[in-house]
Amino acid sequence: MKRILVTGGAGFIGSHLCERLMAENHEILCVDNYFTGRRHNVAHLMNDAGFELMRHDVTFPLYVETDEIYNLACPASPVHYQFDPVQTTKTSVHGAINMLGLAKRTRSKILQASTSEVYGDPDVHPQVEGYNGNVNPIGPRACYDEGKRCAETLFFDYHRQHSLRIKVGRIFNTYGPRMLPNDGRVVSNFIVQALSGEDITIYGDGSQTRSFCYVDDLVEALICLMGSGDDFTGPVNLGNPAEATILELAELIIGMTKSSSKIINKPLPQDDPVRRRPDITLAKEALGWEPTVPLEQGLEKTVHYFKTLLAA
Ligand code: NAD
Ligand code: UDP
Repeated sequence: MKRILVTGGAGFIGSHLCERLMAENHEILCVDNYFTGRRHNVAHLMNDAGFELMRHDVTFPLYVETDEIYNLACPASPVHYQFDPVQTTKTSVHGAINMLGLAKRTRSKILQASTSEVYGDPDVHPQVEGYNGNVNPIGPRACYDEGKRCAETLFFDYHRQHSLRIKVGRIFNTYGPRMLPNDGRVVSNFIVQALSGEDITIYGDGSQTRSFCYVDDLVEALICLMGSGDDFTGPVNLGNPAEATILELAELIIGMTKSSSKIINKPLPQDDPVRRRPDITLAKEALGWEPTVPLEQGLEKTVHYFKTLLAA
């Protein structure tokens, strides 16, 4: 049994991770400031003595005892991370410094939830870990992209300077139950719009691509990464390489929900990446991991979640 800290643990991915770690009988400390997370997401874990929930902002130091740290605290949807961009950068950078300091004192192993956004609008496709990216450092996405890039820098400097055991996973678009209905990301937007008969809002002409990973697969990847040998630091791409255009995603969701919603086009946000697909060769080789849930199957579970939520 390990003492595991999950920052951002009341969020979408974090709550699934806490659930999965609890099933392995670990002691979990879930830390969140509830910016985009909800206590409700982990309410079902609260009766277990092995689970503790703490309201805390990772931009402030945290003094607890741990064996492993999953650092997930940071809003992930463009709408939410652009709401208070300065706070977003602080969360990634100060948050990383605080959690790395904690890991250094407790000699904990620490995993960073990094992102495909470190590749920016990529001119290498599919994205391999050796590609250094194409990020606009002064655009509206920079608070998130550069914050996450700086966090990676800090992780590797703590590794080199203090021999810390680090794991950096670059997460690609992940979806599933417990995304907020007003999350602003494409899968939740389209499903909520389709189920409520509202127009489906495609930004741009919908030819841009993403590769969507179901949350259970992603949580499995994070656990495999944390469990990998101490000499494996990453960065490693974690995602589903099945690529789709945003128009294809809209049509699939309309079909699955038998919705009468119309597709409308809205302006493409600045610096919106044109194409995104992970090369997961490294994850397969080093972690023995690859996703198993096809898009349609994951979407079915997600549609079911939102149907129940909207009916309540
Ligand atoms: P989310 O917004 O649901 O979860 C983020 C959690 O962090 C929330 O519970 C939020 O309240 C919390 N948080 C934010 N700022 C905080 C702070 N200063 N102190 C404490 N808690 C704070 O998003 P998610 O999709 O679950 O993302 C989790 C992590 O995975 C994030 O670090 C994100 O950057 C990364 N990631 C997610 C995706 C994806 O597609 N879902 C892709 C790439 C990377
Ligand atoms: N998108 C869209 N309509 C929406 C929300 C998003 O067309 O209602 C597009 C967005 O412009 C982007 C893609 O879907 O090209 C994925 O957007 P999301 O915010 O989910 O994630 P990210 O851009 O960070 O990959």
